[in-house]
Amino acid sequence: MANSQLIRPLVHDLHAYVPGEQPKIKGLIKLNTNENPYPPSPKVLAAVKAAVDERLRLYPNPTAHGLREKLAKFHGCKAANIFVGNGSDEVLALAVRALVEPAQNTAFKFRNFNPSRAVVQYLVPSYSLYPVLADIHGATKNAVALDPDFALPGAGELKRGRVWDFAAALTFITTPNAPGGRGYATAELEELCRRQRGVVVLDEAYVDFAAENALQLALKLPHVLVARTFSKAYSLCFQRVGYFVGHADLIAALDKMRDSYNVNGLGQIAAEATLDDLKYYRENFKKIIATREWLSRELTTLEFRVQPSQTNFILARPPKYPASEWLEKLRNKKILVRWFGAPEVKDYLRITIGTQAEAAALVKAAREIRG
Ligand code: PMP
Repeated sequence: MANSQLIRPLVHDLHAYVPGEQPKIKGLIKLNTNENPYPPSPKVLAAVKAAVDERLRLYPNPTAHGLREKLAKFHGCKAANIFVGNGSDEVLALAVRALVEPAQNTAFKFRNFNPSRAVVQYLVPSYSLYPVLADIHGATKNAVALDPDFALPGAGELKRGRVWDFAAALTFITTPNAPGGRGYATAELEELCRRQRGVVVLDEAYVDFAAENALQLALKLPHVLVARTFSKAYSLCFQRVGYFVGHADLIAALDKMRDSYNVNGLGQIAAEATLDDLKYYRENFKKIIATREWLSRELTTLEFRVQPSQTNFILARPPKYPASEWLEKLRNKKILVRWFGAPEVKDYLRITIGTQAEAAALVKAAREIRG
């Protein structure tokens, strides 16, 4: 055992993020980490395979130039408005590092320090990585409860002192919400963003399965960043490519902080080929949304309380047994779903939308368990 004096107390005490399980058991139906059940397009697979040759000894393009140009065209902006990272997890982490002051710095270094400069603010429940990123950075966390059924708190309620910090250095909003699945109207998000004086990150990891997106806010408001990923809708979790869209000044600040080669070469190739074949993916979105609606109806008839979802997963409160027992009972039937122990969601299961056959298998298993 290494001497604990060798490790920073902050790291020693850190509760690290716990990713969903990636089991290697054969025949398991894996509905626990919101992966896409459909493979990347044949053109993407061909592009990646064609790139696996002696070029692997070379460094990739350090600025992901080609990919940023393609993304800029896709979103109707300039490459200077795009920041690409090793998954959206990396871009979220870099936003904390570039935009938030560690709490100790504000106390020690500046006489007239503004404590909000050290605040990472987020809603609960939402993506459980945000508090971990704040802890790693030594920032102050401000967790604010969502309304029941995962609605955003209205302006009046925020003002009435739900301890919302309008000057927080960085505010994360998961939209649509995870793990709730609820989608938010762009007008509502715009109102919230306009009231904030610090930067707002709209984390749109699941937005391709939603009725609307708020990308325009990143191009209209200089303090708003929209985070997107190729992981979920574009079947590329393995390749780790995510990005921000936002004002060129914010993008330039992030660019100073990143590793020189933060986006691996095969990831850049896969993401570029994806953008050349969007039609294939739009068909998959339709299939996943149809399965989501079918599964929601079926589970409702089995007396699950299913939250309306705009994502590729549903959050559902199961009948008869506690959710944690359902997790085990489903696992015994070789179906893996996700359960979070956090108080706001401990009565629910989060179920990724798989293929129609996988969803049918889940319904069959749920019927047997409920009896
Ligand atoms: N944001 C949200 C809300 C997520 O659920 C996830 C996936 N766990 C991510 C971001 C990160 O995705 P990735 O790093 O694969 O791009």
